[in-house]
Amino acid sequence: MANRFYIMNDCIFCHIIAGDIPCEKVYEDSHVLAFLDITPVNPGHTLVVPKEHYADMAGTPVPVLIHLIEVVQKVGNAVLKSGLAQGFNVGLNNGAAAGQSVLHTHFHIVPRNVNDGHSLWHGKKYVPGQATAVAAQLRRTML
Ligand code: AMP
Ligand code: ZN
Repeated sequence: MANRFYIMNDCIFCHIIAGDIPCEKVYEDSHVLAFLDITPVNPGHTLVVPKEHYADMAGTPVPVLIHLIEVVQKVGNAVLKSGLAQGFNVGLNNGAAAGQSVLHTHFHIVPRNVNDGHSLWHGKKYVPGQATAVAAQLRRTML
């Protein structure tokens, strides 16, 4: 894999992109690489990463994210058409508090089948008035 992007030395995904560390490639174009996660939730669990190093989604330029999502859809459709799974989850951990362990932006595509033993997060309930206040807080922040 030829690489013209700046490599962060302590970033394992930059080393995969540069070809220094092997991966099971699923898709590649000039800006994005998709490869199998080494510890899959289910077979076909794929990571979609920009070739340019950005630490997290919050700091990734929107045009880069748009292209990443195009590739996420492409890989997701392949998961379905290949017969590997009946559905898939798309996930992204932003920040250590959210479980991000590799500080190079990446989407997870997790193939899913009915009764495969996995479950997503469990929702809590708002106390009365809290939802209104939280939504207002977010709207104010985005002004
Ligand atoms: P996250 O916790 O969202 O940062 O996810 C990082 C993911 O990278 C984990 O699911 C790891 O299994 C995966 N991972 C770490 N090292 C490698 C590697 N060398 N090749 C493929 N996947 C990896
Ligand atoms: Zn990197």
